[in-house]
Amino acid sequence: MSPRAHSAWLKTLGTLVAVLLAAVVLGVLSGQLWPVVTVTALGIVAWHYWRLHGVLSRLTARQRLVSPPISPSSNGIWNELDRLLYRSQAEMRNRKRRLIDMLRAYRAAAAALPDAIVVVERNSQRVQWFNEAATTLLGLQYPDDIGAALGERLQPLSVSHWLSAGRNAEPLMDEPSPIAPDVRLSLRLIPYSEELWLLVARDVSKLMRLEQVRRDFVANVSHELRTPLTVIHGYLDMLDPADQPEWAPMLAEMQRQSQRMTQLVEDLLTISRLEAQDRLPDESVAMAPMLTTLKREAEALSHQRHAIVIEDSAQVDLWGSTKELHSAFSNLVSNAVRYTPAGGTITIRFARDGDGAVLQVRDSGYGIPPAHLPRITERFYRVSTSRSRETGGTGLGLSIVKHVLNLHQARLEIESQVGLGSTFSSHFGAERVHHRDRRPALVSSASQ
Ligand code: ADP
Repeated sequence: MSPRAHSAWLKTLGTLVAVLLAAVVLGVLSGQLWPVVTVTALGIVAWHYWRLHGVLSRLTARQRLVSPPISPSSNGIWNELDRLLYRSQAEMRNRKRRLIDMLRAYRAAAAALPDAIVVVERNSQRVQWFNEAATTLLGLQYPDDIGAALGERLQPLSVSHWLSAGRNAEPLMDEPSPIAPDVRLSLRLIPYSEELWLLVARDVSKLMRLEQVRRDFVANVSHELRTPLTVIHGYLDMLDPADQPEWAPMLAEMQRQSQRMTQLVEDLLTISRLEAQDRLPDESVAMAPMLTTLKREAEALSHQRHAIVIEDSAQVDLWGSTKELHSAFSNLVSNAVRYTPAGGTITIRFARDGDGAVLQVRDSGYGIPPAHLPRITERFYRVSTSRSRETGGTGLGLSIVKHVLNLHQARLEIESQVGLGSTFSSHFGAERVHHRDRRPALVSSASQ
């Protein structure tokens, strides 16, 4: 008990005792001791009851309490109780006001964000709250859409399926806005509590336009370079080094460089073509002839310097584009040959991988230091520029591989140890795999 409450308590007790003593004295003087004391005691109980009633009715009325008067005569226990009640109510009011201010500030900040923010109830997928940008970007209207089913409200945007994927939902990168198809949106789902999720939509139209400009530029430049290069290449081929023997080394270098440039332009055009495609034709890709072709190409590139081994235990074929998959796999095979010193072994293995399948290209070559692995599929990223150039690399091979695999919803995994070799594995999901019509026995062959 606080000292103040303690002294109020003592004062009330003192007053009680004094009043009872006065009643005793009055009773003795009037010769009516018990009636006077009884009436006084009943009076005291009634007064306390009245004060208790007052406190209870003020509390139950949920009214704003008034500050009790502070005077020397008002410091009994009931006044102290009034004062404490008033103080705790005032403190509660202040705390509530601060919380409301804070909530308002957060809501104002969320409302002012340029990204559309929608709070979605997880189970029902109904809208709980959204900011102003959700009206301009997603077309949600206040207050009609509070409580609306988000999937239905955002049609034709296919978010229902995405919302059901829940925590595993991958961000949608380039979706048309439901109210203006030329506005492109990136959408992410952020689970921030058990019941509530946040849908964030960002306008990426400008970014997409810039990306398109960049793609068009690369495609156009590559295309424009093709014709002059063909001409240069053609004339270089016509020149006979025997006519001017002293020019022979220069001529050979010019031919090599124009060959490199042609390859670079072809690779850039391949990437541009892959980037422009959302999906590829789904045809049956016969893997047995594919592996035979890869082996033949590896042997042509290796000039008998490596052992080329084929292992085919999958007994399945793939769904996808034969042309693009061949381009990806042959890039992996060509890398394996180019980055493996003479005497090494290159194994091309096609096997089941759970319900899916995996095509692995394993070499016993130079290997790649771990620090380079995260960036190795970027365009023009090379571990050793000189080795890449020497072997006729453009720096675009793995970028092409990554694009082709993405278009097949496949994943590239790279394992490598410096000095021991590398394994590039292309993992295909179950939906990309189907049984072969003819089932050849396990093929395993090697050539030196
Ligand atoms: P490049 O045309 O230079 O080979 P890629 O995109 O095909 O370009 O490969 C990028 C880089 O990754 C290469 O420059 C090389 O350093 C490294 N690399 C690719 N494949 C292998 C491999 N099998 N063994 C060692 N290094 C490799």
